[in-house]
Amino acid sequence: MTEAAAPARRDVDSEVVDLCRELIQIDTTNYGAGESKGERPAAEYVAAKLDEVGIESQLFESEPGRTTLVAHWEPEGVDRSVAPLMIHCHTDVVPAVADDWQVDPFAAEVRDDMIWGRGAVDMKDFDAMLLSVVRSRQREGRAPRRPVRLVFFADEEAGGQLGSKWLAQHHRDLLADCSDAISEVGGFSLTVRDDLRLYLVQTAEKGLMWLKLIAEGRAGHGSMRNDENAVTRLAAAIGRIGSHQWPQTLHPTQRAFLDEIEKAFEIEINHDDVEATLSRLGTISRMVGATMQNTVNPTVLRAGYKTNVIPGHAEAELDGRFLPGGEEELIATVRELAGPDITVEATVHERAVEAEFAGSLVEAMQWSLEQEDPHARTIPFMMSAGTDAKAFGGMDINCFGFAPLQLPPELDFTALFHGVDERVPIESLKFGARVLDHFLDKA
Ligand SMILES: [Zn+2]
Repeated sequence: MTEAAAPARRDVDSEVVDLCRELIQIDTTNYGAGESKGERPAAEYVAAKLDEVGIESQLFESEPGRTTLVAHWEPEGVDRSVAPLMIHCHTDVVPAVADDWQVDPFAAEVRDDMIWGRGAVDMKDFDAMLLSVVRSRQREGRAPRRPVRLVFFADEEAGGQLGSKWLAQHHRDLLADCSDAISEVGGFSLTVRDDLRLYLVQTAEKGLMWLKLIAEGRAGHGSMRNDENAVTRLAAAIGRIGSHQWPQTLHPTQRAFLDEIEKAFEIEINHDDVEATLSRLGTISRMVGATMQNTVNPTVLRAGYKTNVIPGHAEAELDGRFLPGGEEELIATVRELAGPDITVEATVHERAVEAEFAGSLVEAMQWSLEQEDPHARTIPFMMSAGTDAKAFGGMDINCFGFAPLQLPPELDFTALFHGVDERVPIESLKFGARVLDHFLDKA
């Protein structure tokens, strides 16, 4: 680490506030089930901002208005012998119920040196940083080290069927030649003490397996004896599955994360109760707790139509999440617990994601943070939920969550994701833009 002279000032953060506010003011609410608004105007806004500095972009629509933007940023001076780096983000946001907020969620008001509004941390902050940095480098003729693929996806908040997954299926060649990718959710700081800030880089994501359990039995009158009752069979099966204690499996990412946390905070983590030991990390502790093992939760039950009729058919739905490498174990365990009378079907399956926390890209993250924060230390972590990185299955892309943000220690950052009064400190935003700018010199 160096406390060396501040790097020469580049004009990378002067626009970032305006860009972020203007993006928030374009209401891009994704209501799910294919319903949304504003993604096309947002993509057109981004395209215009890129066009102003001479970068051409292409817009793709999976359905009318569901717009994803792709741009090849390969100015004079990039090293074309290196495979492109993908920097992807999304323009859509989750709904906001205005009555619950202290401010209009789409006004992008500035209050207490923060920008308030839906998308302020998920993820119009990073959209703005990226635009700001790219525009500044273009104006100043500073090429990134290697070719960069800029992607602004639609539909991330509803699982990406009309955004990342659609693009991966229909325009695979636009993504598949990239060897690395950065996006949400990671790069934010966790203050340990004045001279140590951890920056959590996401290197793994759990996978998802939604399951349907089907029990067949003998239909009949509710007054009769029936030892082939579909409801009874199904209830017993989901009882076993729902109360199953999944064994803890320390994935290498998780092990590295816990080791770093123990060292930094000088604590010993109780692996049987990670959430309690890590309560001082705020809401991050919940995410860490959920990445200690596979989980399967019964969520939907469907059977019967009348109290005195035994149905011949009963169904349940389960939400399963597996650690990278834990997929086979999850499905085998569910089948075994369900028993021979129950049919188990996977209805939705999304891959787990993992990348090694090593190599020149990871070094570039550490280095670029140090240029702005001499007390920065990057550490890997695993997300319990998913991002657009899930769409890049079968492509050889190392995916990282690295959207750098230095946060004031008192801000409960993860609670702001999809939360009420979502907001981002202006200083954090500017910091992020400067770090991203350094990163492009080395990445
Ligand atoms: Zn997001």
